[in-house]
Amino acid sequence: MAFDILVKGGTLPDGRIADIGVSGDQITAIEPRIEGEAVRVIDATGNLVSPPFVDPHFHMDATLSYGIPRINASGLLLEGIALWGELKPLLTHEAVKSRALAYCDWAVSMGLLAIRTHVDTCDDRLLAVEALIDVRREVAPYIDLQLVAFPQDGLYRSPNARENTIRALDMGVDIVGGIPHFERTMADGRRSVTELCEIAAERGLMVDMHCDETDDPLSRQIEQLAYETQRLGLQGRVAGSHLTSMHSMDNYYVSKLLPLIAEAQVSVIPNPLINIMLQGRHDTYPKRRGMTRVPEMLKHGIRVGWGQDCVLDPWYSLGTADMLDVAIMGLHVAQMSSPDDMRRCFDMVTNVNAAIMGLDHLGLETGKSASLVIIDAGDPIEAIRLRPDRLCVISKGKVVAEKTRRDTSLSIPGRPETINRRHRLPN
Ligand SMILES: [Zn+2]
Repeated sequence: MAFDILVKGGTLPDGRIADIGVSGDQITAIEPRIEGEAVRVIDATGNLVSPPFVDPHFHMDATLSYGIPRINASGLLLEGIALWGELKPLLTHEAVKSRALAYCDWAVSMGLLAIRTHVDTCDDRLLAVEALIDVRREVAPYIDLQLVAFPQDGLYRSPNARENTIRALDMGVDIVGGIPHFERTMADGRRSVTELCEIAAERGLMVDMHCDETDDPLSRQIEQLAYETQRLGLQGRVAGSHLTSMHSMDNYYVSKLLPLIAEAQVSVIPNPLINIMLQGRHDTYPKRRGMTRVPEMLKHGIRVGWGQDCVLDPWYSLGTADMLDVAIMGLHVAQMSSPDDMRRCFDMVTNVNAAIMGLDHLGLETGKSASLVIIDAGDPIEAIRLRPDRLCVISKGKVVAEKTRRDTSLSIPGRPETINRRHRLPN
């Protein structure tokens, strides 16, 4: 059989060594050894071959705007929202689009090939919505981009947000978002969850809400989100992003809440870089970590992914488009240090995030989309530890990014000439 691309000798995340044959935009063979012709043969011997990285929570309308018109002096979440409010009137279609496309270039270089981005729907011009719809179309050949209609300033709190959010969905935005903890009252927050879930149910759409992104233990909008998910039959199509208040909730209440989330099949998307940076800001010492209860959720069978949230924007002054940065922070904050837990963190930023986004075509299996990443690491744990170069990125059957491996040369007598910090663990 002749392939378009044959990736030889790579190590899969489960430890198997396999060749992968690509024909057109599909994986057509994965076997220990494939004898066949190929237009291009790529040697992956000794390297990890992974499904693509997936980011289920991002803000592409704000990315790369850090410092415009000023930086966030306090570093607080609420100053970030106020700063975004100052930036919004200054946005142009071209500027939003060119920053988003530049970010997508970074993403591709890091093997990040599917992104769910929230897009602010409170601006009457819906300029960012239009710009990101353009971007979604332009990057479609190499990135799966999902857009979430996100009433950043509150569905009821901001004057035209409700109407504009519905307009954005009419324009072709994929998913219904919300921000119940930012409404003026707890009751308004609950009401917004109900109305937004009803809109999603009527339109057959998925839901992904910023939910309880606060240290207030009484912020319990996730309860309403799980309840409405079951009432409206939305099981498996709803995600709660952040859920940071759960860090501070009463343990008895959480013991009742986690089974509800599990039953409703609501996915959870913590954003560890942002949560550890923005939460706990009102504390003296001890300071709370402000990330939701990930290991406990996993024990309850709740689907949990890791999201990135921000890169160089009003809320976060750093960021790299590398989901391994997200995984290593999540692993630390959640204290997921066993080998199984660390491998799980890698699975979360690849396969689990894809499942949360409903992207059934991704994964290293025959018949799936030919999208994969060759990483300069021996296994998933080493990939998290080193966050190394992505040597080759293939999206939908095309090589879209390549990097030459670069070991460091040492000039120390009696020591090796080159090193790369890889380390083989004892079996
Ligand atoms: Zn967010």
